[in-house]
Amino acid sequence: MSKPNQLAIVVPCYNEEEMLPITAEALRVSLDDLAKKGLISADSFVLFVDDGSKDKTWELISAEHEKTPTSIYGLKLAGNVGHQFALTAGLLTAMECSDVTISIDADLQDDIHVFDEMLQKYQDGCDIVYGVRNSRKKDTFFKRSTAQGFYKLMNSMGVKTVYNHADFRLMSKRALKAFSEYPERNLFLRGIVPLIGFKTECVYYERLERQAGESKYPLKKMLALAWEGITSFSIKPISFITGFGIMIVILSFLALIYVLVSYFFGIFGDTQPGWSSLMLSIWFIGGVQLISVGLIGQYIGKIYLEVKQRPRYHIETFLSAKKEDSADEV
Ligand code: UDP
Ligand code: MG
Repeated sequence: MSKPNQLAIVVPCYNEEEMLPITAEALRVSLDDLAKKGLISADSFVLFVDDGSKDKTWELISAEHEKTPTSIYGLKLAGNVGHQFALTAGLLTAMECSDVTISIDADLQDDIHVFDEMLQKYQDGCDIVYGVRNSRKKDTFFKRSTAQGFYKLMNSMGVKTVYNHADFRLMSKRALKAFSEYPERNLFLRGIVPLIGFKTECVYYERLERQAGESKYPLKKMLALAWEGITSFSIKPISFITGFGIMIVILSFLALIYVLVSYFFGIFGDTQPGWSSLMLSIWFIGGVQLISVGLIGQYIGKIYLEVKQRPRYHIETFLSAKKEDSADEV
């Protein structure tokens, strides 16, 4: 790739008035620097997305835009829709007017110095480059352990995620185009992006402390995100119910032996009239019911996967008799 590409840095912001001027300045410097190195074109820009902030965030974004209209863009959402949707709004808007995007949080906890490396990988033909933290020393013990538990849980549920990667990533125009074909409302970007495919790499960085303001992801929002991640990507919890039902039915056969032995031989003491039939019914019916619920669940799981209407594939390259036709040109 010879021509430098137009980069859009997408930054979702919710009540970030303390951080905004610092972030805008740092990213402006970074854009200049990258343009000088010839990694991006001079018309590259930062796109701040105001996710319905209640403080002065939007006024500050507008002021930054006034200062340098060509390098700072602003997008104001009508209300607070949450990080994942705000980021999507920014990415899809940026997709229309840039060649490549990098998404980063407003608090600059992710290292802006790895932009170089990300863009280098992009120029080497990667469509998606993940920013991955190589340590969590700066996070509190609580945040660190809950976050790591979260990745482990997701993996055990069969959801492909990149370990220690949040929403700091580079995406090419065609990767974004593929992403835009996922129309789902239950949005968990970290789960969707690995589904897209294409050439992918990681860059590693040290996660920094938030410079100003406080985390907009309290425990409640974190749990909601984890739940979203699991329930939008995995129907394994339903299979657990079926498995549990089968286990109970097997146990009911053991109970059958126990009850029959007690009834006929009175080994475990005398049985009361009605006890044997009741015991067996409880175990057996319970198991059958669980299996049935699980079975219905399996169908609901299939319906759920269908209604998402996810694309079934993305084309990377098509070699035909005429010429090499790459999805790039789409
Ligand atoms: N954010 C957002 N909408 C929300 C909550 C957060 O756009 O409803 C943005 C926030 O401004 C920040 C990013 O999402 O740029 C990540 O939030 P934060 O840094 O507070 O999360 P943490 O790093 O603590 O997980
Ligand atoms: Mg943060």
